[in-house]
Parts: sequence; structure tokens; C-alpha cells
Amino acid sequence: MRCKTAERYISLKLDGELCPRRQKALHRHLQTCSFCARIQSFNLAMQTRLQELPQAEFPQWLHHRILSNLPRQKKQSWAGKHALSYATASLAIIFSLLAGTLVGIKGYESSESYTQSETEYSYLSFGEQSLMEVYDD
Ligand SMILES: [Zn+2]
Repeated sequence: MRCKTAERYISLKLDGELCPRRQKALHRHLQTCSFCARIQSFNLAMQTRLQELPQAEFPQWLHHRILSNLPRQKKQSWAGKHALSYATASLAIIFSLLAGTLVGIKGYESSESYTQSETEYSYLSFGEQSLMEVYDD
């Protein structure tokens, strides 16, 4: 194993990300190479010292400062936000107008066909009379 590779493996080992097979290879290299062995002991000592350091507490204002310095998302205009719902609403209105027209045409045709028989027509044209007229009969 080259010393360059051993250095990389040492870092990975300290991070706990070195697979057992490579750990064995590193161990073999460290037994023969005093240079890499020193690097490992130095890195180990450094890691231990860093872990002993007290966790730095962040000042209260830091959080607010970071948040206030974040780039703001440009506010979307009211029209832009509702453009899609306007399109949907317009489609719904157009559709209901078309449907209403079609129903009206069909209804008109069927009511015309019933004028031939008076009795049937009187039942169907109930909607044209008020309830009072119906009870007067
Ligand atoms: Zn080495």
C-alpha cells in the first residue's frame, strides 16, 4: 500500500467509514511504515482533543442575523397566484353556460312535442304555474 492511500484510509478509519478488509491492509502498512503510524497517532490525538473542546454556544442574535440575510423570495403578485384558478373558474363558467344552453334546447324541444296531448302537457308545465294556481283547481 502506498503512503498516500494509507493516509486516506487513516482519515476514513477515524470517521468510522473504513471497511474491515481495508482496516487490515492499513494495519499491515502501519506496522511497516513509521511515517504513517505517526500520522495516525497525530490524527487520533487531534480528534480526541477536538472532542474534548466544549461545545461553543452561539449568540442569540446569530440566528436572526442569518435568517434576515437570507435572500428573499420575490413575492408573487396576487394575479399571478390566482391565474390558474381564474382559468379553471372561467372554464367552469363556460362549461356550465354550454350545459345550461344544451339542457334548455333539449327541454324546449321536448316541451314542444308534448303540446299535442293536453293532459301530458299540463303535468309537464307545472313549473310555469304557481303552487296557488295548482291548489285553486
Ligand atoms: Zn506509509
